[in-house]
Amino acid sequence: MLSSSARATKYDYDLICIGGGSGGIACAKRASSLHSRRVLCVERTSGKLGGTCVNVGCVPKKVTWTAAHIAHTLRHDAVHYGFDVGGGSGEDGGGPKFDYAKLKKARDEYVSRLNGIYASGFASTGVACVYGDCSLSLLAGGDGVGHAVLVRDPATGTSTRYTSGGIVIATGGRPHVPCADGDGIAEHCITSDGFFDMPELPDVAVVVGAGYVAVELAGVLNSLGSEVHLVVRRGKALREFDPMVSDGLDDEMRRDGIFVHRHTGGVSKVVLDPKSNKKNVTLVSGDAIYGADVVIMAAGRVPNTENLVVAEGADGEVVDEDGVSWSGNTEGMGLEERGVKLSKNGYVVVDEYQNTSVDGVYAIG
Ligand SMILES: Cc1cc2nc3c(=O)[nH]c(=O)nc-3n(C[C@H](O)[C@H](O)[C@H](O)COP(=O)(O)OP(=O)(O)OC[C@H]3O[C@@H](n4cnc5c(N)ncnc54)[C@H](O)[C@@H]3O)c2cc1C
Repeated sequence: MLSSSARATKYDYDLICIGGGSGGIACAKRASSLHSRRVLCVERTSGKLGGTCVNVGCVPKKVTWTAAHIAHTLRHDAVHYGFDVGGGSGEDGGGPKFDYAKLKKARDEYVSRLNGIYASGFASTGVACVYGDCSLSLLAGGDGVGHAVLVRDPATGTSTRYTSGGIVIATGGRPHVPCADGDGIAEHCITSDGFFDMPELPDVAVVVGAGYVAVELAGVLNSLGSEVHLVVRRGKALREFDPMVSDGLDDEMRRDGIFVHRHTGGVSKVVLDPKSNKKNVTLVSGDAIYGADVVIMAAGRVPNTENLVVAEGADGEVVDEDGVSWSGNTEGMGLEERGVKLSKNGYVVVDEYQNTSVDGVYAIG
C-alpha cells in the first residue's frame, strides 16, 4: 500500500471512478471527503451527473408514479372521501384535466436541477470531474499497482490520460433490446430511456417485459389514461418474486384494466402502418396487438463493460513525465483480456470487498 505522499508524486489521482451514476458518485465523494483521497470521476454524458437513477430511472419514474397515483386517487377514491372532483373522472371530458407535457417539463427541470446539485456536491467535497468516454488503457505502473485511463472528448476526438493508484469501474448498464434483422423491433420500439423522452401520453401502449421496470411503466401509463398491453413471455409478471407479490400484482393489474398477454414467447415482429403511424405487434405465439402508439421494450438490462479497454503503448512500454513506466495494453480490447474477469453475461466479477481479479481495480453498481 502506498503512503499518501508516494501517491501524490506518482499518480495524477489516488482514485478514478469511471461512471458518474449512483455508485461512482457515492464512492468518489466518500473517498474524497472521508478519506482525503484525490479523486477524479469521469462521466460519459456531458452535464448529466447522476447516471441511470437520476436521468432515466428511479427519479423520473417516481415523479411519474406520483402523478399516476394522484390520477388513480382522483378517479377511483376521491369522491368516496367527500371530494368534489368536478363531476367526472377526467376521461369523459368532465373532472380534473391532465397535461402530460406539463408533467414532463417539470420532471425534466427537476432532473436538471439534480444534475447541478451533484456537480456542486463534487465541487464542495473536492472531487474533480471530467466528461468523456473513459477506458482503462494501461495497467501496472512501476510499483505494479497503479493504472491509467484515457478519457476521450467526443467533441474534439482528443484523448487525455490520467493515472491513478486505484480505479473503480462504475459504468452501470443500459436497456437490452432483443431483436433480429428485419423484425422491426430496433426501428419501431423504444426502451425505458425513450419512455422518459415521450412528448405526449400515448393512447395505446404496448409494454414488453415481466420485470419491475416493465410492470411500473405499464402501471403508470394505465393510471394516467393510456390503454396498456403488457406482454409477458410466460405466465405472469415478476415470476421470480414471492408468489404473494406476483399474484397480488396480477390481480391488481387485471382489476385496473391492463391487458396482460400471457405465454406469448415475446415479440416476433413490429410493423409501422405508414397511414395511421400506429404499430402492429406480432407475438411469437402468433397473436397480435394492433394500433399501438408506442411499443416499449423493457426486457432486461446489460452491463456497460464492452470497449472499456483501449490499446495504448503498442510497443510494450510507456514512460510518463514522472519517469513511471507502464505496460501497454497490447492484448486486445476486452476487459477480460486485461485480466479483469467478467461473468458470461459481461458483469465484472468481484469479491465481497468489490475487488476485481486485478489489483487496484474495483467494480461497483
Ligand atoms: C426505469 C428504471 C427505474 C428504476 N427505479 C429504481 C428505483 O425505484 N429504486 C432503485 O433502487 N433502483 C431503481 N432503478 C435502478 C437504478 O437506476 C440502478 O440500480 C442504478 O442507477 C445503478 O447505479 P450505477 O452507478 O451502478 O450505474 P448507472 O446509474 O447506470 O451509472 C453508470 C454511469 O456510468 C456512465 N458510463 C458508462 N460507461 C462509461 C464510460 N466508458 N466512460 C464514462 N462514463 C461511463 C454512464 O453514462 C452512467 O452515467 C431503476 C432503473 C430503471 C432503468
